[in-house]
Amino acid sequence: MTIQVLIVEDLSYDAELMALRLKDEGIDLNYQRVQGEAAYLEALTNRPDLILCDWHLPQFSGQRALSLLKERDLEIPFIIVSGGIGEEAAIDALRQGANDYVLKDRPARLGEAVRRVLDDQRLRKDHEQAQEMLRLAERAFQNTAEGISVTDVDGHIVSVNPAFESITGYSAAEALGENPRILKSGHHDSAFYRDMWSTLIKTGHWRGEIWNRRKNGDVYPEWLTISAVKDKLGQTTHYVGVFSDITQIKEAQDQINFLAHHDALTQLPNRALFHERFNHALTHAQREKGSLALLFIDLDRFKTVNDSLGHPIGDKVLLEVSKRMNDAIRASDTLARLGGDEFILLLEEETSVQHAAVVARKLMDMFSNPMMIGIHELVVTASIGITLYPNDGDDPDILIRHADRAMYEAKQQGRNTYRFFTKALTEGAFERLMMENDLRRAVCRGELKLHYQPQVDLNNQQLLGVEALVRWLHPKQGLITPNLFIELAEEIGIIGEISTWVLHTACHQIAKWDQIGFNVPRVAVNLSVQQIDREGLVTTVSDELSKAGLLPKRLELEVTESMLMRDPDLSRSVLSELRDLGVKFSVDDFGTGYSSLAYLKLLPLDRLKIDQSFVRDIGHDENDETIVRAVIALSKSLGLEAIAEGVEEESQANFLLQAGCNLAQGFLYSRPLPADEIYQNWAHKQETTT
Ligand code: C2E
Ligand code: MG
Ligand code: MG
Repeated sequence: MTIQVLIVEDLSYDAELMALRLKDEGIDLNYQRVQGEAAYLEALTNRPDLILCDWHLPQFSGQRALSLLKERDLEIPFIIVSGGIGEEAAIDALRQGANDYVLKDRPARLGEAVRRVLDDQRLRKDHEQAQEMLRLAERAFQNTAEGISVTDVDGHIVSVNPAFESITGYSAAEALGENPRILKSGHHDSAFYRDMWSTLIKTGHWRGEIWNRRKNGDVYPEWLTISAVKDKLGQTTHYVGVFSDITQIKEAQDQINFLAHHDALTQLPNRALFHERFNHALTHAQREKGSLALLFIDLDRFKTVNDSLGHPIGDKVLLEVSKRMNDAIRASDTLARLGGDEFILLLEEETSVQHAAVVARKLMDMFSNPMMIGIHELVVTASIGITLYPNDGDDPDILIRHADRAMYEAKQQGRNTYRFFTKALTEGAFERLMMENDLRRAVCRGELKLHYQPQVDLNNQQLLGVEALVRWLHPKQGLITPNLFIELAEEIGIIGEISTWVLHTACHQIAKWDQIGFNVPRVAVNLSVQQIDREGLVTTVSDELSKAGLLPKRLELEVTESMLMRDPDLSRSVLSELRDLGVKFSVDDFGTGYSSLAYLKLLPLDRLKIDQSFVRDIGHDENDETIVRAVIALSKSLGLEAIAEGVEEESQANFLLQAGCNLAQGFLYSRPLPADEIYQNWAHKQETTT
């Protein structure tokens, strides 16, 4: 580095000599020589790095030059280079701030003096700079908005800044000596902290988002950078943590996120979020072999509202509509606004055809309530298209398109209605929906009837019992057979009610017949699978028996193999309890299900009912005849009676009798009939035979 030297010297020759000397010593310099005060002051403004000054000058003096320098507070090293100064003057000069003096007759010392003075100067400057840096760092530490904490290697906090105090709520005095653990929120597991430390140890840094807890308990997100501070040997001595509270950033982010995924007017999920959820639901359903239902909802003639009443009113209608729909759906459903007056609803939990139809109805009903928008009373209707996964496709876009198409169908059909993409479903669902509503009311409206079908002894045509078979006398559709509504009753959860009614009615009927001297030895009542699964069957049965004053052995309960096998242990215990009361059991539709013989042996059974599908083919199908024979043999070996169902022809009866089955039920003897007809047809036969 070239240094700028100011030489105060009257002799140019001396000045040049000094410069040469220094250059010889390897000091790279430029110099300027002055000899008067004015020139000196002028030269000072250039801030030379060094002043070499003669002490005795014709128009100036070294003394004067030094004091001018000091007056200006300029920290430029000042070396006196003089022919002779005198010890006292020299000491005086040093006291005044001269850095050294060199006698002209000892020029060898000049280089050394200059070098030392410049080194001193450099050191001082470095020190000052370091001081300045420290001051700056301290100021930054104190004033920065980021919280800073310094911990020693043992994890004790040794220093925190004011931002730390204000973010965390801990004062410096409280924090010092503590472990930063005091800020732990509990939102991260130990693996999180383990990762943090291993990164920190490996790389010397860690940065990331972390949830911490303020002194007042609030948990907040912060962006944290931790750096290891190492000494010269590379040993970590401290860790510096710098963090900022990003609560607001997060909130803003959430806000942005919300806006990106929701419709601004209704706050409902928008098309983007809907697609996301739909894809997710579809993947899930595919994996779980589940199903989904999609309802595409389009308001009818919404454009007219907009055009005639204006957009602000239109917006209010949309808002009201979406509020109503939102209130009507379940938490597991996703309702989204696709834009304009188009909405889409995804059902994930109950996705049957019926449920989708129920929801569509519900939405339509809900719309039909007039809404007050300002001074306008409006009735909005909607057309709804429904698609089902997997029935109508497995691609999200196709499913939506199909729902859209079905919605269009609904519009074509005159609006304010719904249509399934698969046309047959629309009718089926509607029928079923009507049925469902009607069936719920059937019991209390007294629309259920019991018919009784005789069971006879094949040897003498004697009446041994009846099977109670329920019918539903629908006000519009007439008599409906149980095959058409028992399953529905199970699905909609009213089978219990129906079964109790059947049991009650059947028991009372037998008791009534007893009273009028018509003896029907027993009545068989069909159980439904849900009755075996549910608690309370034993109580219901014994209650009904005692209410009717009937001996338990006169009641026979019909169960099927599949009912028994659903939960064999439970079935066994329920049957045993009922058997303890004295109730009898028969296995209905025997041969059509699968049951283990070993298991059947364990059950308290009395009878096997040979299913009518085998009986029907007696005389036509050898195979079925073999089965019938086998069932009869089997029941014998199990110590049970066999009874054949569905006997329609004499030949069948003869076959059965020959095969060893003495009991039968079927149209050959009687169709299922109302109680009074049974009495009319059978009471006199009893009289004649007894
Ligand atoms: P199931 O217990 O096997 O009843 C016998 C069915 O066969 C009855 O049909 C009866 O009408 C019919 N049947 C009787 N004899 C003949 C015949 O000679 N030829 C033909 N082709 N059919 C005959 P239904 O009354 O329609 O009952 C159907 C099923 O509904 C019953 O089958 C039973 O499983 C169920 N069910 C009936 N009533 C009740 C009830 O109160 N509760 C429950 N849970 N299920 C019932
Ligand atoms: Mg039966
Ligand atoms: Mg049967």
